[in-house]
Amino acid sequence: MGSRQVSTEAADWQGRKVTVAGLGVSGVPAARVLHGLGARVTVVNDGADERARAQAAGLEAEGITVRLGDGDTLPEGTELIVTAPGWRPDKPLFAAAEAAGVPVWGDVELAWQLRGLGGRKPAPWLAVTGTNGKTTTVRMLASILEAAGLRTAAVGNIGVSLLDAVLGDEEYDVLAVELSSYQLHWAPSVRAHSGAVLNLAPDHLDWHGSMEAYAADKGRVYEGNTVACVYNAADGATEDLVRKADVEEGCRAIGFTLGTPGPSQLGLVDDILVDRAFVPNRQKQAQELAQVSDVNPPAPHNIANALAAAALARAFGVEPAAVREGLRNFRPDAHRIAYVAEVGGVAYVDDSKATNTHAAEASLAAYDPIVWIAGGLAKGATFDELVAKSAERLRGVVLIGADRALIREALARHAPQVPVVDLDRTDTGAMAAAVREAARLARPGDTVLLAPACASMDMFVNYNKRGEAFADAVHALAAKDA
Ligand code: ADP
Repeated sequence: MGSRQVSTEAADWQGRKVTVAGLGVSGVPAARVLHGLGARVTVVNDGADERARAQAAGLEAEGITVRLGDGDTLPEGTELIVTAPGWRPDKPLFAAAEAAGVPVWGDVELAWQLRGLGGRKPAPWLAVTGTNGKTTTVRMLASILEAAGLRTAAVGNIGVSLLDAVLGDEEYDVLAVELSSYQLHWAPSVRAHSGAVLNLAPDHLDWHGSMEAYAADKGRVYEGNTVACVYNAADGATEDLVRKADVEEGCRAIGFTLGTPGPSQLGLVDDILVDRAFVPNRQKQAQELAQVSDVNPPAPHNIANALAAAALARAFGVEPAAVREGLRNFRPDAHRIAYVAEVGGVAYVDDSKATNTHAAEASLAAYDPIVWIAGGLAKGATFDELVAKSAERLRGVVLIGADRALIREALARHAPQVPVVDLDRTDTGAMAAAVREAARLARPGDTVLLAPACASMDMFVNYNKRGEAFADAVHALAAKDA
């Protein structure tokens, strides 16, 4: 798709024909902003349900044209499409755009293009992507930047939208930006100050078409970086993406590792997070940044997230003391390896956000022995690798959800000695039963870990509700135990 520049001068939007593809969290505000700049905006949307009709009525009252029930016909005279990031690249609308030479931007590209509007001084972006750990890393990064006294916010795929951040009244020194692979796909000209790819595991492949296409979209986070491209030394695919990226002269590749760091890396020496990249003599010197115990929770994958956040902050010139303070101040979001309670000497941990096998593998690696609560919607995943890698740490397993047979079969193949309780129910009360079964299998010193490796929508509205049901069940167990 073209990355043709459209000027950010407000006057230049006057009368431009822009098509906004998709109502919803990004489409509605984009349509309003563009309309406010004087563009002639048409919103196209596939669905025409009640919610869409209500949104359309609101926009039409403001003078914006909306076409419901047809997201694939390119409106006559369109000069630019601004698409919802989730719209698949193989949709006929985009083929029509390509044939007509019409550029396509996502919500992130729009924010990038408008960031200087009205003479604003644009804040540089520190950008994070990866299959897992994005939100955590971006929040850690924002916490570190705040500790350094910088005006900042965690934006993008979390909390504040980028459009609000770049057009709002608040002034920022730097933004901590989470970018999904979809957003990167539709962001041809975004140039972050520094970028990080945390890890790469197969996810959303039906959308991207192939692993190569998924990786290439993630790799866009490095395009045009000026100071550092941060990669995961344990994940060669992330380093490959740095090599392929077209960056500014002098931009460095900076690795993070859970081992002893080499020159131009951040890593661990005993239980100390150290920087051997942004120090005067990296051949001989390393700088202490923080202790493992400053990271919350201090699980291995989360230390990796902390090192990636620290690398981006150090690339921006943040002092070591602020890295430590920022990590200490950081509190993880709910349902991400959240400690719930201890009952009868057993710890209960909620990682409902582990909605794919790569995420579940990380949290299973953080505890030993574990009673694992797993299952839900598998989204085409296979579980052999996950089970084989975790088998030794499993005290027992409780399975819930629609696709639990897939996990049960993997357990039979790779961990036949591990007791499995297969709860043949998908009602919402099943979580209480699962927690009771897990309590029965656990011994003092064990951890009962909800890390489903699956999506939640077969039983719950979302992963938040699944985590809440787990915590409620644990608290009920604690009340009985008291
Ligand atoms: P994202 O925003 O990429 O979905 P989150 O920070 O919300 O990532 O974490 C989602 C889940 O992924 C967590 O609950 C945890 O299970 C897992 N996770 C977090 N960091 C990592 C990592 N670095 N590697 C693997 N899994 C991780």
